[in-house]
Amino acid sequence: MQKCKWMLRKLMASLPLGTLLLAGYASAQIDAMFNPGLVGRDQTEAIRISDTIFQATGFGNTNMVVTPAGNVIIDTSLIVNARRHKQLLQAADDGPVKYIILTHAHGDHIGGVSAWREEGTEIIAQDEHYEFVNYQNRLKGLFSQRNAAQFPSLNVVQLSELELAQGVENFGAEIVPTILFEDDYRFELGGVTFDVLHTPGETYDHLSVWVPDYKAAFVGDNFYTSFPNMYTLRGTKPRWALDYVDSINRILALQPEILVPSHGDAILGVDEIERQFTRYRDAILYVHDQTVLGMNQGKDVHTLMAEIELPSDLDIGEGYGRISWSVRGIYESYMGWFDGNPSTMFNTAIDAAYPDIVRLAGGANGVAELAETQIAEGDLELALHTADIALRAEPSNVRALTARLAAFRALLEASDNSNEIGWLQFGMRESQEALDAAGSQTVR
Ligand SMILES: [Zn+2]
Repeated sequence: MQKCKWMLRKLMASLPLGTLLLAGYASAQIDAMFNPGLVGRDQTEAIRISDTIFQATGFGNTNMVVTPAGNVIIDTSLIVNARRHKQLLQAADDGPVKYIILTHAHGDHIGGVSAWREEGTEIIAQDEHYEFVNYQNRLKGLFSQRNAAQFPSLNVVQLSELELAQGVENFGAEIVPTILFEDDYRFELGGVTFDVLHTPGETYDHLSVWVPDYKAAFVGDNFYTSFPNMYTLRGTKPRWALDYVDSINRILALQPEILVPSHGDAILGVDEIERQFTRYRDAILYVHDQTVLGMNQGKDVHTLMAEIELPSDLDIGEGYGRISWSVRGIYESYMGWFDGNPSTMFNTAIDAAYPDIVRLAGGANGVAELAETQIAEGDLELALHTADIALRAEPSNVRALTARLAAFRALLEASDNSNEIGWLQFGMRESQEALDAAGSQTVR
């Protein structure tokens, strides 16, 4: 039981995507590839991408390349999917597992390693794997809080005060790979060559696998059928736009005929791969360049978040990543936290000024009334700020909590982004709990 809890904690600390939706809330508009409760659930046999490449789908996919001397597994999905994936893939070919290649160290890629590893199986990752798993372990307390907020359906176990009091563990993470490499690593199995290439993007340790004999590229999480999460609300180190661009170019130059991502379907055909992968790259580069241009023009981050949109020919959708969050991610990755206003460089946060201002405005009820007006006029984001100002002065003000809940609910109804939905639902739960604590039964 303890071991189970520990595994769950490790899993939650490393979950990459804000996509574990509450059952019953999933918007039909959201691509099923971002809903881990649904992806692959009904799969009865592995997808045969080619005579030698098979895939079990899930959050994320497990891919298998078959050779006469044994098999290569590329990514292993979440631990909860591993048994199903293994059954599906071994029904297609049950040769020995000679290599496991991990495109990066997020939990939906490394979770199933223990299910697949056999005696003598080599496990390959990129050098940055070491720091990445230590980073996730180092901040496991905060990640567990964020993940508990964003993924309520998984009943995340938060670390206890006792565990947190044990201090910081900077370099104690378990290192599973047996082979680490810097830029590229080549091996041969059963007469088939595998080139493992460092392709940073979603993470620093991200790699891709190129199988020249089949002209097949396995690109992990450097391609989705949505704009990527260049900043994830769960929290992440900077994800550099120009790394994505370089890594995509590295793969495009190989002219793959089969492109296998770790979420979503494979793409087949040189022309179609080039079309989709180029457009994906150009969308990232467009958002990066527009952000940098605006920064150099002296525009503030919120102005750019509101202004920058993809042109229609690059519009790859926002079911997973949001352009605005990526703009802010790029801006703050380059410049850090200081916004250039000397008022903000000190310890006192802006919201410390709110209680006195609320008092001057006649109290929290009056400010909450303003939030209600803003909701009626459709200014939902502004209404959230107004309600927060009232609540900073009077945390259990029923009128302000009710307005906050109503604004979140209205935003939820309009949302088609899986990460955003997770956090809107968190805001609703939090507001409702505060209302319940305040003794109000007026809203549900
Ligand atoms: Zn993933």
